[in-house]
Parts: sequence; structure tokens; C-alpha cells
Amino acid sequence: MMMMMTTCSSGCKPLFMESLFHQRITTKDKVVVVMGATGTGKSKLAIDIATHFKPAEIVNSDKIQVFKGLNITTNKVTEEESRGVPHHLLGFIDPNAQDITAAQFSQEATRAVDSIVQRDALPIIAGGSNSFIDQLVNHHDQFRSRYKCCFLWVDVSLPVLHSSLEERVDRMIECGQVNEVREFFDPSGAYSRGIRRAIGVPEFHEFLRAESMGADEETKKRLLEDAIATIKVNNCNLANRQLHKIQRLYGMWKRSMHRLDATEAFLNKEEGVWEDHVVSKARRIVQRFLYD
Ligand code: ATP
Repeated sequence: MMMMMTTCSSGCKPLFMESLFHQRITTKDKVVVVMGATGTGKSKLAIDIATHFKPAEIVNSDKIQVFKGLNITTNKVTEEESRGVPHHLLGFIDPNAQDITAAQFSQEATRAVDSIVQRDALPIIAGGSNSFIDQLVNHHDQFRSRYKCCFLWVDVSLPVLHSSLEERVDRMIECGQVNEVREFFDPSGAYSRGIRRAIGVPEFHEFLRAESMGADEETKKRLLEDAIATIKVNNCNLANRQLHKIQRLYGMWKRSMHRLDATEAFLNKEEGVWEDHVVSKARRIVQRFLYD
């Protein structure tokens, strides 16, 4: 089944693919971890790596994306973006359920990684919840005793990231975020657990409350603008906090953690720039990790 994926269009199996496949058999203890603040392109890089080092599968490590629903608001990869790469722990929990703990995540992620290596595929963990990755790698014995990790950190200079995050919020609004969030409006204002904690949900509370009470257009417009502005600030603050946590982990994992500066690719959106500045470097690092 997996061999099928290494077959070229003419039906023959190229030799180098065959040797990669045989090498993969010997690398059942290796996991790639893609880290980065929100909006830096972690999910895209994880898919870029997965489509190169086939077969590979991705395990989500974002504590909000584990919940079903709010696909626009939580920025889950779409079917099209996933390019056929299987994703695990993505949208698998009821949106009203309790938050998943770092210990529960570690158990689920270890189970997913075990199943991926059993299929002779490369596991790639990707997501922004750094406490989950920390717990899995440093404190979860079942994972720690079995797997070696290569950490890729996608970094973007903060001013550039902030303006990109603000643009992303505008795109989410254009894509129908308000309609999506309306379904999660809670008149009692309880936004402290489950998917309602996502940035982009509590911020709309005042607007949705005014709307539900039949407020006039001017009031609604003002509250909507306030909500959007707050979402932008909260996303930038999340990115700042995540960056600090990653820098702390970088101090700990320096030898196995590789910083990829994606700033240029954010300033120049041509696909070739992302490829040159981020993907090709990441591929070389993963190649060395897997086969040297
Ligand atoms: P960590 O797990 O790294 O210690 P943390 O507990 O602050 O940090 P994060 O994963 O950084 O967890 O998320 C913090 C908050 O950011 C979440 O509670 C949520 O409000 C928001 N958030 C995180 N990921 C998303 C997402 N994909 N979509 C919307 N909001 C998110």
C-alpha cells in the first residue's frame, strides 16, 4: 500500500525511492516536530515536509484545534491544503467538552505516533501549544523512551508577523467568521472552556448580544469593529507569548532544534521564496536527521 506512493507516473519504481523506503524501515524511532507562533506557517511547512518524505502523517498539537467546529476561527487546515496528508488529533473532540490536558494530549499523541510508525510512515507533530509539546517530549515516559525528535522552529520577525496576523483576521471575517461564531454565542458569557476559549469567540460577545437584543445598525457596526480590533490585538499577544515559550525551549533543546527564519517569505509572497528560505532548509535538516 505505502509502496504505491513511491511509484512514478510511468509505473516503474525509481531506485532512489526504493532506497528511501528501505531507509525508513530503520527510522521507526524518529519524529519531526514543527513549532512556531500562531500564523508563522507551521501547518503549511508540516505538509510540505510530509509530501516530500512520503509516507508521512501529521499529529496536531494545538489545544484549540483538537475541538470539532469553528474551522475558520481556529484556522484548521482545509481538505485542499492538507494535500492528502493524513492529520491526527484535529477536530476530534466535542466543542462543548472539557479542555484536554497536557497529560491527555501526550497519551493521545503517543498513540497516534505509534500507529504512524507501525504504518512505516514518518510522524510529524505540528501546532502552537508548546506546553503540550514540552509535556510530551520532556515528561511523557512512553514517548521519551521511544522517540528521538528533530524540532523545526518557524520564526518570523514580530512586526512582520503582527501585520500578517492582522491581515489574517480580516480574511477570516471575509470568509464568514461572524456566522461561524454566532452558533457559539452564549448569552451567559461563559467562554472559559472548550472551543469557546478560541481567540475570535469571546471577542464577539458584545456584538452578538447587541444583535440578539435588536440593537440599531450603528451600534452593531461599532461593536463589530471593536471586536475585530480586539481579535487582532489578542492574536498578536498570543504570538508574543508563544514566541517566549519557544525561545525558552530553544535554550533547552538547542542541539536538536533548528530555527528557520521565514520573515523574507512573509515580505515576498511568491511561492519560490517560501521554498528557498524555509522548505528547502527544512528538508535538508530532516534528511540529515532521518538518514545520517
Ligand atoms: P502553552 O500550552 O503553550 O503553555 P497556553 O496554555 O497559553 O500555552 P496556547 O496553545 O498558546 O496555550 O493557547 C492559548 C490560548 O490561545 C487559547 O486558550 C486560545 O484562547 C488561544 N488559541 C490557541 N490556539 C488557537 C487557535 N488555533 N485558534 C484560536 N485561538 C487559539
